[in-house]
Amino acid sequence: MKALLPAAVLTALSACTATTHTAPSGDHTPDRAHAQDPPNLIVILVDDLGYADTGFNGTTDLATPHLDQLAAQGVVCTNAYVTYAVCGPSRAGLITGRYQDRFGANLNPTANPAVPNNGVPTSEQNIAELLAPVGYTSAAVGKWHLGTHPDLRPLERGFDHFFGFLAGGLDYFPENLTLHDLSEVNGAWAWHRTKLVRGDTPIENNTWRTDYLTEELSAEADAFLRDHHTTNPDDPFFLYLAYNAPHTPMQARQRDLDRFPHITDNRRKTYAAMVATVDDGVGMLLDTLNELDLDEDTLIVFLSDNGGATNNGSINAPLRGHKSDFFDGGLRVPFVVRWPGVLPAGTRYDHPVSALDIAATIVDLADAPVAPERPLDGVNLVPYLTGDNTDRPHEALYWYMIERGRLAARIGDLKFIQLEDGTPPMLFDLAADVGEATNLHNARPDDTATLRDRFDVWAEPMVLPLAPGLGTWFPN
Ligand code: CA
Repeated sequence: MKALLPAAVLTALSACTATTHTAPSGDHTPDRAHAQDPPNLIVILVDDLGYADTGFNGTTDLATPHLDQLAAQGVVCTNAYVTYAVCGPSRAGLITGRYQDRFGANLNPTANPAVPNNGVPTSEQNIAELLAPVGYTSAAVGKWHLGTHPDLRPLERGFDHFFGFLAGGLDYFPENLTLHDLSEVNGAWAWHRTKLVRGDTPIENNTWRTDYLTEELSAEADAFLRDHHTTNPDDPFFLYLAYNAPHTPMQARQRDLDRFPHITDNRRKTYAAMVATVDDGVGMLLDTLNELDLDEDTLIVFLSDNGGATNNGSINAPLRGHKSDFFDGGLRVPFVVRWPGVLPAGTRYDHPVSALDIAATIVDLADAPVAPERPLDGVNLVPYLTGDNTDRPHEALYWYMIERGRLAARIGDLKFIQLEDGTPPMLFDLAADVGEATNLHNARPDDTATLRDRFDVWAEPMVLPLAPGLGTWFPN
């Protein structure tokens, strides 16, 4: 698929309800029988990527040819939301398929491993834990950020393999990683300099296969695909590949910076280089899947964990706001689903979908058991993305910063936002106003009241964060 012009994207976005499913040129008949086999799942999660910063969403200065290839072979969801506007809570929602407010993972938690419940508590199950009983092998590669406490680490939480780092960020060059592990961290942010971990064990920097973190994570993901195919070809797998790019610190190799001579702003140039390195990795994985004849056996979801941040040079146009906001610029993300032979290639889907749907989709396809006391909040997206079900997957989606009283609800195309307790409510019609520029509250107070009431019903069972915040290293 050729990159669309921003104007075309804007038109598609503002036509939210008019065109839900755009057929590509050239008819495609999904092979329904294939859906009987539970597919492998690859989640490619990026960190703080701007809504506009892929070719398939209209970038004009970056280059994402492999992400665009993924989009051309799958479905671009234009109204795709995560469950929170910063990393930790968003990932907790994605990985469990449940609103993180249900179990207190609704604040970016401290990375201090001495603090219990500083991630997804053991009362919940993540996708790997849900899929283990039905025979999946699971690997987590990259940023964990779902709990550094020993009880919450990947190998304790259903994953058979882990290669990456436990906290919320890492420097990109191996020579910067001067701390052995989190026990040597003596304050907030120093976790950016801990060594990479394989399983439970830090690895030496001179054992890296590459000279740059993003490429190292791609190499590990590729090795997992090949190893699994060699040793376990008949069993399905779940690969959770969580790049920390293009999150700060803004660090890129000179040879990647040199790929963008037309970008003069240094921060944007660095961002472009960091995104390009992710794109290289995606290209390698797509080639490997094809080489191993796994294309039609593998469901891939690509998304960002929240909107572009103000400090990394990202662009969220035409959306308002950025990471940490409850405007769509914080919550609505680039999102592609690819499953050749089942999902129609080269299409765009405009009804709201959620990161919550990833768990619900694979659990449904794999017929994995879900405990009745922990019902999933998402839906299986496949019948919606194929066009078999023309209803909206979600009538309502909600967001809650419980400790500050910030809240938002999207019901249909109306969105209600309140920034803090006592501040004036905002109401937007996203079908007509994708940039959330015109507050309709005074004109439509009854709609505001209805959405607020719906939010209050949803929020009633939600709980306060279980752990102190990210900036707190010594919680006592
Ligand atoms: Ca993030």
